[in-house]
Amino acid sequence: MTTRTGRTHAVAVIGGATAGAEVAAQLAGRGARVAVFEQNPRPFGKIEDGLPRWHVALRRKEYETIAAKLATPGVHFVPNTSVGRDVSFDELVNEWGFSAIVLANGAWRDRPLPVEGADAWIGKGLVYQNPFIIWFNHADDPGYDGPLFEPVDDAIVVGGGLASIDVAKVLMLETTLAKLRERGIEEDLVEMEVKGIPRTLEKHELRFEDLGLQGCTLYYRRRIADMPVTEIPEDATPERAEKARKARDKLMSKAMEKYRFAMVPLSAPDGLLVENDRLVGLRFRRTRIEDGRVVPTEETFEARGSCVISSIGSIPREIPGIPMQGELFAFDDWELGRIGGFPTVFAAGNIVTGKGNIVASRKHAAAVSEEMAAHYLGLHDGHDGEESLMEAADTEIAESAAAVADGIQELPGLDPDALERVLARVRERQAAVGYGGDFSAWLDRVTPPRFV
Ligand SMILES: Cc1cc2nc3c(=O)[nH]c(=O)nc-3n(C[C@H](O)[C@H](O)[C@H](O)COP(=O)(O)OP(=O)(O)OC[C@H]3O[C@@H](n4cnc5c(N)ncnc54)[C@H](O)[C@@H]3O)c2cc1C
Repeated sequence: MTTRTGRTHAVAVIGGATAGAEVAAQLAGRGARVAVFEQNPRPFGKIEDGLPRWHVALRRKEYETIAAKLATPGVHFVPNTSVGRDVSFDELVNEWGFSAIVLANGAWRDRPLPVEGADAWIGKGLVYQNPFIIWFNHADDPGYDGPLFEPVDDAIVVGGGLASIDVAKVLMLETTLAKLRERGIEEDLVEMEVKGIPRTLEKHELRFEDLGLQGCTLYYRRRIADMPVTEIPEDATPERAEKARKARDKLMSKAMEKYRFAMVPLSAPDGLLVENDRLVGLRFRRTRIEDGRVVPTEETFEARGSCVISSIGSIPREIPGIPMQGELFAFDDWELGRIGGFPTVFAAGNIVTGKGNIVASRKHAAAVSEEMAAHYLGLHDGHDGEESLMEAADTEIAESAAAVADGIQELPGLDPDALERVLARVRERQAAVGYGGDFSAWLDRVTPPRFV
């Protein structure tokens, strides 16, 4: 990107997945030099680590899209570099000499379970969704060294969005497979997700009840009809909103039937049940919905389970030096992700929406339809056609990347010497992490064999 005065922009993008790759490709397409700092060896973010691995075709398509963007001439990939850990944000803004910085580091922190003291039980009965799904997607990769989980029967899942249904599905599929294995039957998880549990069992002349599993239970603080699995546009007529709520009920009944998990709506976590130095369940408070708001009632009840998995949303992980406001970065311009006092900093992607999974895309809400949700939930006979599921998100991210690129274009660029100094520093970091400058060769090197 050359400025009106003939200078060139050098931009640092933090995070190399859907949003980071899009911003980088757009800026490079306008002539800027873009260094993409990615904490992991592979740059696929939520697609690789958050989207359960049974979405084989969707994941492959999004990998290809991201990889093609990062291979754009003018984009300099810097893997294995976490901003905040390996390079400080302050250093990047004030010392490296970039003309702009774009935050595209997504939303990777689980929103804490809202019960006082809950986090003391992490690893002792309490599990959070993000590490659980990362484990599910990666446990079989050679060299996986993250936390290990044992999918156990009779778990309590707290949540209500699509990600919490993913968690319930993982638990049900894994515990069913384990029970079949005890009987000497080997089944494939990805195939079972497509066929569903009852149909898979039928093949072996079994019913779910024969397995001796309790199944997991999803506790949600609103009604099933309120679950944000489909989007109800803000301007929907009462009739249309009612129809959409009925559709949610129908989708959820189908999902529960196909994957055999249970749901308890109108229940919010309210206390911890601890025995023998372990979280053994939760006390829930019954709620009611009044004018769309959750209202706690006087009634409480206890639920016990083999573990508690909290899946109530993902928020950005703090980076030292970036001001926060509550659980989000302190943006004062949400369109461009600008933060007061940091005139060269912009943001795009999940970090701005603060949402880590399928959500209402503000401008393309109609696309989060019943059909799309059914695809996501696995309610069609197979995943054919689901490659288009991310289209609304990708369109929104492309639009916000273009706005960010326009904003950067207004800033002064760098003269040739300053540009060369930044690029030399980028090359130094690339060399330190063993990145030779050829993106495709790097990707081949860090992709586990037979990986999807
Ligand atoms: C079917 C489906 C539909 C969806 N629809 C929508 C939608 O309509 N609207 C919507 O907003 N979203 C939607 N999503 C969510 C979608 O996953 C995201 O929009 C998108 O993938 C997020 O991309 P991202 O680049 O912002 O974040 P991520 O994919 O999380 O990428 C962030 C990257 O930054 C890296 N990183 C994090 N911290 C650091 C650091 N400190 N230093 C260096 N690197 C770092 C991470 O490793 C990661 O690679 C949908 C998802 C699915 C599966």
